[in-house]
Amino acid sequence: MKNISIIGAGQAGLQLSIGLLKAGFNVSLYGRQNAKEVVNGNILSSPSLFHSSLEHERDLGLNYWETECPQNKTVSFTLSHPKKTKIALHWGSQTSYPYQAIDQRLKYSRWIEKFIQLGGHFITQDIKIKDLNHISLKENLTIVASGKSEISQLFPKNINLSIFDRPQRILCCLYVKGVCTVAGSQGVRVNVIPEVGEYFITPGLTLTGPCEMMLFEGFPGGPFDCWQHILEPAHRLEKALELLKKFIPWEAEHCLNINLTDNRATLQGCYTPIIRKPIITLSNKPILGIGDTVILNDPIGGQGANSAAKAAAFYLKKIKAHRGAFTKKWMTMSFETYWKQSAQWATRWTNLLLKPSQAFTNLLQTASHQAEIAHQLADAFDDPSTLIDNYKIKV
Ligand SMILES: Cc1cc2nc3c(=O)[nH]c(=O)nc-3n(C[C@H](O)[C@H](O)[C@H](O)COP(=O)(O)OP(=O)(O)OC[C@H]3O[C@@H](n4cnc5c(N)ncnc54)[C@H](O)[C@@H]3O)c2cc1C
Repeated sequence: MKNISIIGAGQAGLQLSIGLLKAGFNVSLYGRQNAKEVVNGNILSSPSLFHSSLEHERDLGLNYWETECPQNKTVSFTLSHPKKTKIALHWGSQTSYPYQAIDQRLKYSRWIEKFIQLGGHFITQDIKIKDLNHISLKENLTIVASGKSEISQLFPKNINLSIFDRPQRILCCLYVKGVCTVAGSQGVRVNVIPEVGEYFITPGLTLTGPCEMMLFEGFPGGPFDCWQHILEPAHRLEKALELLKKFIPWEAEHCLNINLTDNRATLQGCYTPIIRKPIITLSNKPILGIGDTVILNDPIGGQGANSAAKAAAFYLKKIKAHRGAFTKKWMTMSFETYWKQSAQWATRWTNLLLKPSQAFTNLLQTASHQAEIAHQLADAFDDPSTLIDNYKIKV
């Protein structure tokens, strides 16, 4: 039986490890934190997972929260007037299938427990280069799924596919309770404020039950780029309300009585989107990277966790079907197929939202009076390929 080691117990690492264990491989999974530390830690993101990704989790029996988690069914989009605080354009649509946003503290801690229960070897260790070298020498296959952490930087930048050299948005995320129900909205509400940034609010599930996940995406140097020195969660909430009142009052009016879900329910920061080469070689052994380690997109397009889930499902199938050694050639060909079929679309969709082309802007505008286009845009979060291809949108 083949021995496989995976570094990083996140969406990609855990999903793939559990899938491989179920397929009969010997799997060692290295995580920085154990399940208890994850659940007691800080929030990690506000990840909406769409239908195709949820189906991959369901295939492995990892969908523990179907009844508890709000089933999101709509996407609505509001564009503010460029000069005044008022709505310039609005549309909303149902998605073809429900989607869910589950606190990764809840998901990852439960999945670590499941991995151990299934007989997986879970090691709590912050893996450094020398450890990676040592691990890869004794394994048939080593995979790095460590997200955007330092060890991912071992994978060289793909200069042809990486179009940014600095962060495109400054982020702040908060989980809150007490947001009023909004008629017609049963899912994410996207607000775009020209030259300021974007604000997303999504129903989700956290440690204490249903909540709303707020995400501010600010242009660097603009009014939403204001979080760096606000360290206290309560002060971040005050700031969030101040920004809503000033820039998106139609959202602020739903938030008159909100509270943070817990004291670790905020995060702020920024990063540069980057595409890396998927393979490194240490002591003559090739090592494969997956998830954010290789394809790191801005959260604006809601693609990172979806791409990680899709990559885990893709590589699970490839590894199960493969006979013989996991060579550099096998890794290269696998990544090329994955990029062509799936990852390129997630990246192109994200980059379109970061820097909308004229054709994409026209489409967003047409959606306000053509329900079918609004529906296609809502579904593009799940699979952006059809929309980009159908409308021949250049990115
Ligand atoms: C604010 C915000 C909102 C987001 N919203 C969405 C969304 O709506 N939809 C969506 O699809 N995506 C979203 N994302 C992105 C999504 O969260 C990530 O893309 C996704 O979690 C990536 O999964 P991963 O498995 O590659 O990495 P991660 O989930 O980051 O997991 C990596 C794991 O590896 C561990 N690790 C790191 N280094 C080491 C090491 N040296 N040794 C051992 N372990 C290590 C980490 O502790 C972590 O547990 C959002 C992100 C942010 C920040």
